[in-house]
Amino acid sequence: MTTVLITGASSGLGAAFARGFAAKGCDLVLVARDKGRLEAVAARLRAGCGVAVEVLPADLLDPAQCDTVAARLADPARPVDMLVNNAGFGLPAPFPYSPVEDEERMLELLVRVPLRLTHAAVPGMRERRRGAVLNVSSVAGLLPTGTYGAAKAWLTAFSESLRVDLAPYGVRVLAVVPGFTRTEFQERAGMDVSALREAVWLEPEAVVARALRDLALGRPVSVTGWRYRVYAQAVRHLPRGLVAERLARRRRAPGGV
Ligand code: NAP
Repeated sequence: MTTVLITGASSGLGAAFARGFAAKGCDLVLVARDKGRLEAVAARLRAGCGVAVEVLPADLLDPAQCDTVAARLADPARPVDMLVNNAGFGLPAPFPYSPVEDEERMLELLVRVPLRLTHAAVPGMRERRRGAVLNVSSVAGLLPTGTYGAAKAWLTAFSESLRVDLAPYGVRVLAVVPGFTRTEFQERAGMDVSALREAVWLEPEAVVARALRDLALGRPVSVTGWRYRVYAQAVRHLPRGLVAERLARRRRAPGGV
């Protein structure tokens, strides 16, 4: 039996990963702050898929609560075979127009928390010679796009390097790189996405289905949708300075900042 621990499982992509893994018969450990929503996700999956689901409410920005999740990942008596580092949020204004405390919290959740949890999970996986880590990054990480994009660039690069290091031990690592996905992300961040074309939006189920397929194929990076795959290839070959200029013009905050 495979057990998968998913952070940010109370909504959006995390809840979709929970449904995707449960449909494959995996047991789950669900982590997020909202215990009620986690319990609701868990109840549906226990009833619908017959899998065992453990609810582990935690604010990952609280060091003691993050340590509890790390301890669960490292517990040899209850092995976790796969870790999905997914919890995250964005900010409405570009750097430096959000409070610095918000910038720090975002960096912590997108960088320090996956590092800490991966560090806790991997030794057991290595010892058992099986396991996987899925890091939910973003296409924003392919481009110079403020703190959020820089954090996601770190997560993708970290995943790609860890994948090579862990391959000899039978542990797989995948960077999941979604584009705009219909979740609560944009609303929670207070982002105005009304001008975005319909064609840019992905469904969370599609991102998860693609990720599970890419994981099975042993690919390093999972990008959903042909438009985003073309985009991911194109930005690699464009001059970075030019791309940075264009993006900076687009994201300037109202009021000319
Ligand atoms: P979402 O629906 O807002 O889900 C975010 C999840 O993170 C929620 O389950 C939330 O649960 C959890 N979370 C937030 N802060 C937390 C904390 N301090 N401790 C524990 N859990 C916390 O957004 P989403 O789109 O599914 O986001 C998932 C990941 O996808 C993020 O890493 C995001 O950067 C990435 N992503 C999203 C998009 C997109 O367009 N949606 C695109 C690319 C990448 P609680 O509130 O219950 O804690």
